Amino acid sequence: MNISVVIPLYNEEESLPELHAWIARVMEAHHYTYEIIFVNDGSTDRSWEVIEKLCAQSSCVKGIKFRRNYGKSPALFCGFRKAEGDVVITMDADLQDSPDEIPELYRMITEEGYDLVSGYKKKRYDPLSKTIPTKLFNATARAVSGIHNLHDFNCGLKAYRKDVVKNIEVYGEMHRYIPYLAKNAGFTRIGEKVVHHQARKYGSTKFGGLNRFFNGYLDLLLLWFLSKFGVKPMHMFGFLGSIVFLLGFISCAVLGFGKLYAMYNGLPYRLVTDSPYFYFAITTMIIGTQLFLAGFVGELVIRNAPERNNYKVEKEI
Ligand code: UDP
Ligand code: MG
Repeated sequence: MNISVVIPLYNEEESLPELHAWIARVMEAHHYTYEIIFVNDGSTDRSWEVIEKLCAQSSCVKGIKFRRNYGKSPALFCGFRKAEGDVVITMDADLQDSPDEIPELYRMITEEGYDLVSGYKKKRYDPLSKTIPTKLFNATARAVSGIHNLHDFNCGLKAYRKDVVKNIEVYGEMHRYIPYLAKNAGFTRIGEKVVHHQARKYGSTKFGGLNRFFNGYLDLLLLWFLSKFGVKPMHMFGFLGSIVFLLGFISCAVLGFGKLYAMYNGLPYRLVTDSPYFYFAITTMIIGTQLFLAGFVGELVIRNAPERNNYKVEKEI
């Protein structure tokens, strides 16, 4: 099969028939073999009935129905697991992404050798409250992930080589950072294609509020940390802990020996606890020990993790 189109959706009943017809039109015009996987993320409207109807009409339509609303990332995850096409394309269900981009995305993956091609909504039809924070978000994501050629990490329209989706695990709200997940899994040929974007035709956005930026920022930090120290926490915490402890220890020693020196030489001296440095020194030693222990506990946790030796092997001969 050439292409799997994975479509996560939450309450998008009005768009589905139109979206399906459009995708089918594009696929048939280019003679692709394809499947469309609708992942119904606990919609409370009639989306699932619509999917059932489409499924009865066409053998290319498949559906997954969640019992409740889990979010876009879990929906993508399950769609990816089911996908069988050589190239997997994700797109939003709200008709904001155009299926006309599919042939070019497919060509970029199969002929130009990209692992992942992300859409770039150069001209966006979203309210300012979305576009401005998004610019900031993308700049941060570029800096942290080291993928400098992407302008639009969170574009719903993306194309993947099949290997990529089978080797990454999207969860929580990590759909914003799929290119980064792919990079961490060893897929480095990541490209971008300017795509056409439209205003939402039906329904309303499912990602309003501001807290998505705080959560997004925390997720990014987490990913960065996992990619850097996820498998070797001792290298980070042990190192920091040792340095901090050593600093504290040296300061304590200096204070103690200073006092002894003064005592034996008849100089004026006072209790070490009278000196503010003593408290700095002791706190530093405690923090150092804590950091070291955090690293050690981290290592113990990893030793017992069932997937600790779960490497992504590309080939064996
Ligand atoms: N979506 C989903 N589960 C959710 C929220 C959204 O599957 O909990 C789907 C939604 O139906 C749409 C896509 O994710 O197909 C993108 O959502 P939306 O268009 O609301 O986001 P925006 O384009 O406004 O960023
Ligand atoms: Mg949208």
